[in-house]
Amino acid sequence: MNAAELFSYPFMQRALLAALFTGLAAPAIGTYLVQRRLALMGDGIGHVAVTGVALGLVTGWSPTWTAVVIAVLGAVLIEVIRERGHTNGDVALALLFYGGLAGGVLVTGLGGQSAAQLQQYLFGSITTISAGDVIVTMVLAALVILVCVGLAPQLFAVAQDPEFARVAGLRVRVYNVLVAVLAAVSVTVAMRTVGLLLVSALMVVPVATSQQLSRTFRATLVSAMALGCLASVGGLTISAFASYHATVAPGPTIVLLSLAGFVVTWPIGAWLRHRARLRAPFADEPVGHDVTDTHPHDHGPTCGHVAVPHDDHVDYVHDGHRHAPHGAHYDEH
Ligand SMILES: [Zn+2]
Ligand SMILES: [Zn+2]
Ligand SMILES: [Zn+2]
Ligand SMILES: [Zn+2]
Repeated sequence: MNAAELFSYPFMQRALLAALFTGLAAPAIGTYLVQRRLALMGDGIGHVAVTGVALGLVTGWSPTWTAVVIAVLGAVLIEVIRERGHTNGDVALALLFYGGLAGGVLVTGLGGQSAAQLQQYLFGSITTISAGDVIVTMVLAALVILVCVGLAPQLFAVAQDPEFARVAGLRVRVYNVLVAVLAAVSVTVAMRTVGLLLVSALMVVPVATSQQLSRTFRATLVSAMALGCLASVGGLTISAFASYHATVAPGPTIVLLSLAGFVVTWPIGAWLRHRARLRAPFADEPVGHDVTDTHPHDHGPTCGHVAVPHDDHVDYVHDGHRHAPHGAHYDEH
C-alpha cells in the first residue's frame, strides 16, 4: 500500500486535517504557557476535561462540547487559584486535577458506558473522528491560532513581564484569563488527536525544541507551530503505515516523534549557545547597553509596538525583545 492509496480513504483525510490543525494550535498557545512557566497547565486542564467527556458520554450530548465547557471552567478556576498565590494553591490544583480525572472515570461507569469509550478520549482516536468533529476541530483550532498570532505583542508582553505590562496599561488579568481559555480550547481540540493524558506534550515539546534553535519570541512561536504540525502529521502517517504490521496508536506515535525532534536538536542548541558565548564573552557585563541588530524601524508612540515605561525612558516590545531608543540606535533592555 502506498501513501496515495492510504490517503484516499475518507477517514484518513479527516484524521490528516485534524492532525494538521491540532499540530498548529497546540504549540501556539503552548509557547505562552512555557514562557509563563506553566508548562504543565495543559496537563491539568486535560485531567479536568475527562469529567466533561464523561458527562457528554452519559447524557448523550457531544463529548467534544461538554469537554470544551468543563475545560474552560476548569482553566479559569486554575487561573484564579494561581493568581491568588495562596500557599496551598498547588494542593488546590492537585485536588482539582485528580478530582476531575477520577470523577470522569466514575461517571462513565455509573452511566453504563464502557471504559473503552472513555479511552478514545484519554489516548486519542483520530482515525475514528467524524466529519462533524473535524469541522469543530478546525474552527476551534483556527480561533486559537488567530488569537495567538494576532495578539502576539500583547500576550508576549504580559507573559514576559506582568509588572511592566500592568504599568504600560495592559489589562494583565484579562490576557491571563484569555490564555487559560485558549489553553482549554486547545486541550479539547487535541483530545481526539493525542488524547487528554498526552495533550500537554503537544503543547510543550515542540516549543522546547524550537527554543533550542531560535532566539526571538516570534521565531520560537512560528517554528514551534511548524514542528507541531510536522510531528502530528508525521506521527499519524507513520502509525498508519505501521498499522499493517502491528497495533500502533497515532497519539503516542505523535508524542514520541515530537520528543525525538527535541532529542535531535538538543546538541545543536547546546552548540549554538556555546558559540554565542564565545562570540560575546562579556555579554552579561554591560547591562542595558546591548545594541540591537540592524534596525530598520523607528519606534514611537504611534508605531504600534507595545510601549513599556522603564525607569526614566520607554521600551518598545519588538519581536520578543524590549528596545529602548538610545541616540541613533536601539538598546536591548
Ligand atoms: Zn515600533
Ligand atoms: Zn528600558
Ligand atoms: Zn525595535
Ligand atoms: Zn546604546
